[in-house]
Amino acid sequence: MKSLLAAVLLLLPLSARAGVPEKLRVVASFSILADFLREVGGDKVEIKMLVGANGDAHVFQPSPTDAQSLKKARLIVVNGLGLEGWMTRLIAASGATAPVVVATKGVIAREGEEDGKKGVDPHAWQSIANAKIYVANIREGLAAVDPADSDYFKTRADKFLARLDATERQVRAGIAEIPENNRRIVTTHDAFGYFGAAYGFQFIAPIGLSSDAEPSARDIAKLIAQIRRERVPAVFLENISDPRLMTRISQESGAKIGGSLFSDALSSGEGPAPTYIDMMTHNIEELKRALIPHS
Ligand SMILES: [Zn+2]
Repeated sequence: MKSLLAAVLLLLPLSARAGVPEKLRVVASFSILADFLREVGGDKVEIKMLVGANGDAHVFQPSPTDAQSLKKARLIVVNGLGLEGWMTRLIAASGATAPVVVATKGVIAREGEEDGKKGVDPHAWQSIANAKIYVANIREGLAAVDPADSDYFKTRADKFLARLDATERQVRAGIAEIPENNRRIVTTHDAFGYFGAAYGFQFIAPIGLSSDAEPSARDIAKLIAQIRRERVPAVFLENISDPRLMTRISQESGAKIGGSLFSDALSSGEGPAPTYIDMMTHNIEELKRALIPHS
């Protein structure tokens, strides 16, 4: 009898044996959303992110495993504003039935340029005020599918929101240390419009809102002329973009390479920006290092 019971117990999943409820399976389209989910969901959630560390969410080739994760998910979190165009098709093809949280719901969208045409700028997370909207949407989404843990999610979200406020103060203080005339840089693609508008900083980019366009020789020549004319102090690399274009622009314009910014993805655990707060802190430190003159 004892051995029969032991045999039955072995067949059960570990969580059922220990009487621990199954974790809520959630899928995030990319790493920044996964970090917000981790902060709010804590140990109640099991997170699968589709576009991982240093990955490019504008262009992504989903695998059959990604479709399976979506099918098994209880909640799906996306950025929206056209960032993950591939996601709608993937959700439909996977047969997923989970509710979809659009993390940018309620964000005031900015317009930008894409191949000479106006387009919606999806990079809303680069403003911390917007990140707080993402967190509120994610908390509501989690509480809707798991109402029993809504207090748990709220407590964690509130703590995280307070840390985001502290990070925003740090970013503003960092910008204030940079001389006004130096608050201008070049980045590969136009990922920092929300950051620039929120904190008073100008970003110039040869590639538009999405990372997949190729700038023409004429665009690059125009940009180099602009850097020289306006004496833009530095060009920056991006973790998701090929550094060669920026290296060339730096060489031809005389603007130095200031450092590397995290735009559309976090780093892995070994890198300098494994969380959203690390990313924002890293970026402001890189800007300060390059743009505050050393006496
Ligand atoms: Zn982007």
